[in-house]
Amino acid sequence: MRKHNFNPGPSVLPEYTLEQTSKAVLDLNGIGMSILEISHRSKEFEGILSETQELFKELLDIPSGYTILFLGGGASLQFAMIPYNFLNTKAAYLNSGAWASKAMKEAKFFGEVIEVASSKADNYTYIPKNYTVPDDVDYFHITTNNTIYGTELKTDPTVKVPLFADASSDILSRPMDVSKYGIIYGGAQKNLGPAGVAFVIIKNDLLGNIKRSIPAMLDYRTHVENNSLYNTPPVFAIFACLQTLKWLKSLGGVQAIYKKNVEKAQILYDEIDRNKLFRCPVRDVEDRSLMNVCFVMNDEYKDLEAPFLEFAKSKGIVGIKGHRSVGGFRASIYNALPKESVITLVEAMKEFEAKN
Ligand SMILES: *Cc1c(COP(=O)(O)O)cnc(C)c1O
Repeated sequence: MRKHNFNPGPSVLPEYTLEQTSKAVLDLNGIGMSILEISHRSKEFEGILSETQELFKELLDIPSGYTILFLGGGASLQFAMIPYNFLNTKAAYLNSGAWASKAMKEAKFFGEVIEVASSKADNYTYIPKNYTVPDDVDYFHITTNNTIYGTELKTDPTVKVPLFADASSDILSRPMDVSKYGIIYGGAQKNLGPAGVAFVIIKNDLLGNIKRSIPAMLDYRTHVENNSLYNTPPVFAIFACLQTLKWLKSLGGVQAIYKKNVEKAQILYDEIDRNKLFRCPVRDVEDRSLMNVCFVMNDEYKDLEAPFLEFAKSKGIVGIKGHRSVGGFRASIYNALPKESVITLVEAMKEFEAKN
């Protein structure tokens, strides 16, 4: 039986993705070769790559003028590639969590980093608001969903400079106005596919303004000009992402999954708010993430943390231990997590409360 998989990443994938990729590992569409064995320059892979890009464009409503890249190195390599390619003098960052802070650290190798606002002093329990982005920065970088702290920036900010977003853990979970962004990037392993590939949605007309010279593999121009085929891309991981995109389309696309995500999150937050054992550490209710739901035990019940994890495990619930910097619990309820898994968790919380 499949577990109720609340892992933060790599994380639960649709059964459709698992079935289709397992079939393709044995034989891709009856061609007598595995997806693991075909050339990245074959017509089969050409078809897979372009279909993945087209579906991504369709589902996220990406306007023309953008290229979708699939690269190695995870979201973390993008933390460095972005400033390498775009930071001429200074860049602005919103410090909303540990990933944002890592992105800032990398940017400092290339120029001045302006932290427009930070919630670090409060252990990132909210999304900083009411900040101003200077007009003279090369770009403004945000993290749309703070995977570790369970906060999410659910609106697309309006700024006068190019807007870059790490959307690793909420890509395709809700509609986004892509036209407001210069780059949207992330690791695939949260909401899209297996580990091993990062997606980068990049506005073509941003390219070519940098003054420094950049090694080929770290230069976005290389990857845009070669359509992610400068070197061998992660063929298998891209194929798996395509299956998830097909699954998402069959459900009715981003708008439909967004509705389901709101409903799943509401069920869980309602129980956290009701249950005497638990509370949500996120300070501002409107910042509560629809993807990563953090909750901790109220002080008087702190000793029950380990027993609750054990109890949940006995119900087939895995992956809910909170990140060490927040403690308590974190239920990652990505697109592919079924509503019944959320209901199972809520029932376990109720049952555990009744026992204690
Ligand atoms: C997981 C995660 C990352 C790191 O992704 P890698 O692919 O492991 O480099 C970066 N940002 C966010 C928001 C994440 O959730």
